[in-house]
Amino acid sequence: MKRVVILGAGTGGAMVANRLARHLSTEIAAKEVQINMISDTESHIYQPGLLYVALGLAEPDSLFRKHERLLLPGVNLIHDPAVKIDMDSRSIKLNSGKSMEFDYLVLATGSHPDFDDIPGFREAAHTFYTYEEAMRTRRDLEEFKQGKLLMIIGVPHKCPVAPLEFMFMYDKLLRQRQERDNIELVYTYPLGRLHSLEPVAEWSEGAFETAGIAGETFFNPEEIDPKNKVVSTLEGDEVSYDFLAAIPPHKGAAVIRASGLGDPDGWLPTNKYTLQLEGHEGAYVVGDAAALPISKAGSTAHYESEVVVRNIVREIHGEKPMPLYDGKVYCFIEGGLQEATHITFDYNNPPKPSEPTEMVHWFKMAFNRMYWLSVRGLV
Ligand SMILES: Cc1cc2nc3c(=O)[nH]c(=O)nc-3n(C[C@H](O)[C@H](O)[C@H](O)COP(=O)(O)OP(=O)(O)OC[C@H]3O[C@@H](n4cnc5c(N)ncnc54)[C@H](O)[C@@H]3O)c2cc1C
Repeated sequence: MKRVVILGAGTGGAMVANRLARHLSTEIAAKEVQINMISDTESHIYQPGLLYVALGLAEPDSLFRKHERLLLPGVNLIHDPAVKIDMDSRSIKLNSGKSMEFDYLVLATGSHPDFDDIPGFREAAHTFYTYEEAMRTRRDLEEFKQGKLLMIIGVPHKCPVAPLEFMFMYDKLLRQRQERDNIELVYTYPLGRLHSLEPVAEWSEGAFETAGIAGETFFNPEEIDPKNKVVSTLEGDEVSYDFLAAIPPHKGAAVIRASGLGDPDGWLPTNKYTLQLEGHEGAYVVGDAAALPISKAGSTAHYESEVVVRNIVREIHGEKPMPLYDGKVYCFIEGGLQEATHITFDYNNPPKPSEPTEMVHWFKMAFNRMYWLSVRGLV
């Protein structure tokens, strides 16, 4: 019996589990293969929906589904957080004290915002990257009627276009409510341009000008003074705000660091083409957890899951893994409330954003629902 363990039941983990269950249904029925998935949560959350929830454009209930509802029958779900991964004994220690052994391992532990990286951040900033924070931002934004909204960003963070979308959507919301004249919008970015992807940075410049959003570059927050509402930067600037919107820099999962895998921030060394965990046979990485030179996004996890599944199936059938991943990422970018553009890129081809259209916006709205099919491995 070959035991596959998938650690993490988020976007990448669920896609790998369901695809494997489908590809290996005969072997699972014959008890030659077992697929186990370890989760530290009761429900799967559709994280891109948090942007809409924070702006009051969607209700939070629509973002959650119990894991059991999303997983195919061939997948055994274990609700017991992993505390340590031991690659020598090929086993995972769980919070309950039990251990789970594996022949093949998929690390799908994702990434999370580090609220303590910047002093003052936790107290001062409003983010929309967790459910609790999105709800707090939603509540406080409704009360915010006058002054300067300052967006600060730490890198790396998942969905690199989400802060841009937040600015464009909030601008349009304020115009709709005829409150835009009372609120100044300022977006900052740590690099020397408005976005890490150069074509997106160039496109954003024009879009910001049209929307009347100010953009400041080389802006690396060092400390926040919540009492006086001032952000100090590594570059030596002091900038005031009335409402601080923020994306904290992200880190990899604690279990990765506790297991001595990955770099000090918890990102896993991953072969960029085969998605194998470097230096370990039969182990793969999917999604945000990988240290790869591409965006951390659900679409990345989607394309990667296809490669990880093919390679695990090949290994189970006695074949070698193949270098099948080309770095493909696909992102929608909301350009307001009724228009969006989209970008697709890979290791060798940069994105080319086009003018936002209503059709692409509706395509994104449709995908927000289709996501649940995508997690089941159906689209
Ligand atoms: C506001 C927002 C907007 C976004 N918008 C988009 C978008 O428009 N398009 C897009 O493509 N992407 C978007 N994303 C990014 C996307 O959601 C993530 O990139 C994607 O979820 C990554 O999948 P993953 O499987 O790597 O991680 P996750 O989906 O985060 O799953 C990781 C899982 O591992 C679990 N885990 C961690 N440690 C343990 C442990 N010790 N034991 C057991 N389980 C553990 C976690 O609880 C979690 O369930 C957005 C994200 C946010 C927050």
